[in-house]
Amino acid sequence: MAVPRGRLLGGCSAINDTFVTRGTKADYDRIADMGNPGWSWKEMLPFFKASETFHSTEWHQADLDIHGTDGPLHISMTPLAPISEKILESFIDSGFDYKPDMFVQGDYEGVGHIGRTVYNGICTTSADFIHKYERTNLTVRTDVFVDRIILEKNNEKECPYKAVGVEAHDDTNGQPIIIKARKEIILSAGVYNSPMILMHSGIGWEKHLNEVGIDCKVNLRGVGENLQDHLIV
Ligand SMILES: Cc1cc2nc3c(=O)[nH]c(=O)nc-3n(C[C@H](O)[C@H](O)[C@H](O)COP(=O)(O)OP(=O)(O)OC[C@H]3O[C@@H](n4cnc5c(N)ncnc54)[C@H](O)[C@@H]3O)c2cc1C
Repeated sequence: MAVPRGRLLGGCSAINDTFVTRGTKADYDRIADMGNPGWSWKEMLPFFKASETFHSTEWHQADLDIHGTDGPLHISMTPLAPISEKILESFIDSGFDYKPDMFVQGDYEGVGHIGRTVYNGICTTSADFIHKYERTNLTVRTDVFVDRIILEKNNEKECPYKAVGVEAHDDTNGQPIIIKARKEIILSAGVYNSPMILMHSGIGWEKHLNEVGIDCKVNLRGVGENLQDHLIV
């Protein structure tokens, strides 16, 4: 099975289909209801808006209740091919609700248009969150591959290990690199590599880690499991 991924600044957002989609209102509200303050649709919407500069066209004006005008991602609607226009019309004739911003308004029932992270032929990616702002508190290092998180023994019973740094190597010459954390480590290596790094660090299902010769430090079922892909027509 081919699993293409973007190994560059911007990650998969630099190689993806550029479709702009948000989850449904119900998804975010459910996440908030599970005990995660700040994740409801109402609370997330300002961040969605802040992430984008939406470029209106004659046939699709920005609805400013849901679109942003000053964010790093430049988003526009690409005109439909004639056959797609006909398909859209046939859906509307069959009784589907026409929702121009269907994929970002929090409700996916109906028929509508989808924005792309492309404007004037240029693709914007999540790397633009870095490029747009001058940040003095951020150092970006490319060509560095993280191998594992360094865990140190903690005397707390509930939490026997503390993540204190990362072990990495220079991708150009294989030289080992150790980076120590002053406060915290945020692991964001994508859907395949985040669990891989966790498992290499000894965080995962003990039975499986033992099978592949990794010393299990935190027995956590679910790491590297339950992958779901989505189908699209
Ligand atoms: C072919 C394809 C088409 C898609 N189309 C769409 C679409 O049209 N619309 C949409 O909304 N979504 C789409 N997606 C999904 C979307 O691109 C991803 O959900 C999103 O990019 C995930 O972001 P992320 O930051 O979690 O991970 P990623 O984008 O995977 O970023 C992970 C980053 O970590 C780096 N990394 C990984 N491992 C290590 C390591 N060990 N050490 C150092 N760095 C590491 C990678 O190089 C990468 O830069 C698509 C995905 C693919 C693959």
